[in-house]
Amino acid sequence: MDTEQPKLSVLAVDDEPMNLKLLDVLLKPLELNIEFAEDGTKGLELLEKNQYDLLLFDIMMPGIDGLELCKLARLNPQHKDVPVLILTAFGAKESLLKAFEAGAVDYITKPFYGPELVFRIKAQLKLRQLQRSMETFTNELNLQVLKAMKTERELLQSQQALSEANKTLVDWAHKDALTGLWNRRKAWDLMEYEAERSNRQKRSIGIAVMDLDKFKNVNDTLGHEVGDAVLKEAAAILSENLRKGDILARWGGEEFLLVFPETDLEGSFQAANKMRLALQEARWELPGLEGMTVSIGVTVKQPGETWTEAFKQADDALYRAKENGRNRVEVPLKGIPS
Ligand code: GH3
Ligand code: MG
Ligand code: MG
Repeated sequence: MDTEQPKLSVLAVDDEPMNLKLLDVLLKPLELNIEFAEDGTKGLELLEKNQYDLLLFDIMMPGIDGLELCKLARLNPQHKDVPVLILTAFGAKESLLKAFEAGAVDYITKPFYGPELVFRIKAQLKLRQLQRSMETFTNELNLQVLKAMKTERELLQSQQALSEANKTLVDWAHKDALTGLWNRRKAWDLMEYEAERSNRQKRSIGIAVMDLDKFKNVNDTLGHEVGDAVLKEAAAILSENLRKGDILARWGGEEFLLVFPETDLEGSFQAANKMRLALQEARWELPGLEGMTVSIGVTVKQPGETWTEAFKQADDALYRAKENGRNRVEVPLKGIPS
């Protein structure tokens, strides 16, 4: 027997003490853990208490007989797969059939013939051992699979968290920290892309440079923190009124930039004016101040023109908006119909 394996245990139930004695002697060389019971009731008790690798049952016993014991062993989850060998008188063919139906796997005829007995029992124990190592192997495998699944899930979760964090990081590299709008650098990227598209499609792009009116007053009268809150609120109002496809960025301190792709001067003026009105009509709670307004310079960049040219025109228009009393939208003089 393999010495590395734990000893295999066997339960033998026979109401003839002589038979049990004989089994004990004959099976000695197999170095098993054998327990004996002299009737079915005692056998059942042991089955419920212990775990065996092989069961040897006599058929004819008073009280619970071998067949009954066999059925009961099959119902016990601990023993449902444990081989049952029937110990039977030679020629009792009919009861043998019933024993097979009850779940027995083999039989040994009495009186015992030592070599045959040892051979049959060894064969069953070998099978049982194989079955047991298969069970251990499958359990271990399942455990490894579960562990691998857990690790994979955790890996996936941390990858997701990482990629979200990276996305946020990349996002914020492109955004203004106070208002959450695109920053100036990102705005340039977006404008370059739009310029290429407009050159291809031969369509103009509108821009609006807007500057909050008398914003310094907010800081001076109510403090820098209120000034920050006003900038955030202005950004939120502008975002709410933004059309799909238009670009809004924080251009400088209290300056914002709007880009209107595929839009002419008239359309850009309308869009900018809508923003101006939205800011003017917002409920500004600024004690001692009249509210918040914005001056806007609007122009269009024609295909082939540079952004520098366009910004020059927009800045000039903005300057005139301030000059002409603030809270208004101006376009380049050449854009005003005569
Ligand atoms: P105008 O109508 O001519 O534009 O007047 P103004 O007061 O808005 O213009 P000015 O350029 O004199 O002042 C702009 C002020 O905006 C000065 C600056 O300290 C303030 N500012 C710029 N960036 C921020 C900011 O991030 N937070 C706060 N609270 N203030 C800012
Ligand atoms: Mg300014
Ligand atoms: Mg200003």
